[in-house]
Amino acid sequence: MKIEPRIAAWHDELTHIRRDIHAHPELGFEEERTSAIVAAKLREYGCEVTTGIARTGVVGTIRVGNSPNSIGLRADMDCLPMQETNTFAHASKFKGRMHGCGHDGHTTMLLGAAKYLAETRKFQGTVHLIFQPAEEGQGGGRVMVEEGLFDKFPCDAVFAMHNWPVLEAGKFQIRPGPMLAGGMRFDITVKGQGTHGAKPETGIDPVITAAHIATAAQSIVSRTISPHDPVVLSVTQIHAGDAYNVIPETAVLRGTIRCFTEEAREKVRATFTRIAREMAAAFGAEVAVDIKDGYPPLVNDETEAGFLADVATEIVGADNVERNGPRIMGSEDFSYMLQRVPGAFVMLGQGGGTHGSGHTSCEVHNPGYDFNDAVLPLGATLFARLVERKLGSETAA
Ligand SMILES: [Zn+2]
Ligand SMILES: [Zn+2]
Repeated sequence: MKIEPRIAAWHDELTHIRRDIHAHPELGFEEERTSAIVAAKLREYGCEVTTGIARTGVVGTIRVGNSPNSIGLRADMDCLPMQETNTFAHASKFKGRMHGCGHDGHTTMLLGAAKYLAETRKFQGTVHLIFQPAEEGQGGGRVMVEEGLFDKFPCDAVFAMHNWPVLEAGKFQIRPGPMLAGGMRFDITVKGQGTHGAKPETGIDPVITAAHIATAAQSIVSRTISPHDPVVLSVTQIHAGDAYNVIPETAVLRGTIRCFTEEAREKVRATFTRIAREMAAAFGAEVAVDIKDGYPPLVNDETEAGFLADVATEIVGADNVERNGPRIMGSEDFSYMLQRVPGAFVMLGQGGGTHGSGHTSCEVHNPGYDFNDAVLPLGATLFARLVERKLGSETAA
């Protein structure tokens, strides 16, 4: 494994930074302390620093020479609203807040790359180090883009990485094209006319109507979406009624939709809305359909995903880079940045197993999870090499 020696020499320092952030987790848009640490470190390393983008977001910039070429690297800084069960010294100091997704590690790896790049400056052009708030559900990435991230800090390409416990430490997994799902969630409220359970002919039954909508909704994926385009539609809640002998006034259906293309997302939205409306009309009921967007699908640029896989291969060897990894049903708001600028997102193996917690499976969002500090220099090396290869003297203008 070809870890950059300068970065390897900072392993203890990076571990210290990572554990300090882990012990002081902050929720989305409240990353005041983390953001202050990031800004201070970037200044110390010699980067230009811009703060206050999307409230707590920070961008560090390093320019070398006059080349117009540029690259963006992104890490997320927020924690999750969950209780950590670990008891080691760097466990969360705050009740109900935990770095359960490893964003402490992402932030630290990008700081490691920043320090290396600012010191060695072996590239021609500009690198923007993007530290975003609120990845977990609040769309800090979207807010940064809306606040003009790529107008103020133009990037020819942008890259990010996420630790992946199910993948062995020292391995990378990527995929050209759609890699992470987009999400939507829905609330469908059927309004009938409540009446006595023994006299259905005097009312309009919202339960039967809702049951038909739930059943018909299962035809959306199987009959209107190509089998080559994976989509999930799950009705996860049905709520109606309180009594044995009362036909209730309303019934509510809720659930989640996951898909990999905008086309599928719009198709599901339109078809589901139509089915709910027409089915309700058929039973004489009324319906309110509310389908809310989650993050869009995360789509890797084919060329940039190939470039990233090549750089990763240079570091860990071809056997440790899965270039055509599986699609993942989870979502990521880096997708908003990839909608604006070509780039790629990669999974960095960190090994499940027992490190730190005693859990047999330390999946992200598990209360016993901890980022594996062993991979800090590897992630930082990948970030650094992406810059040196993308903005190397042979490619720079
Ligand atoms: Zn997460
Ligand atoms: Zn995450």
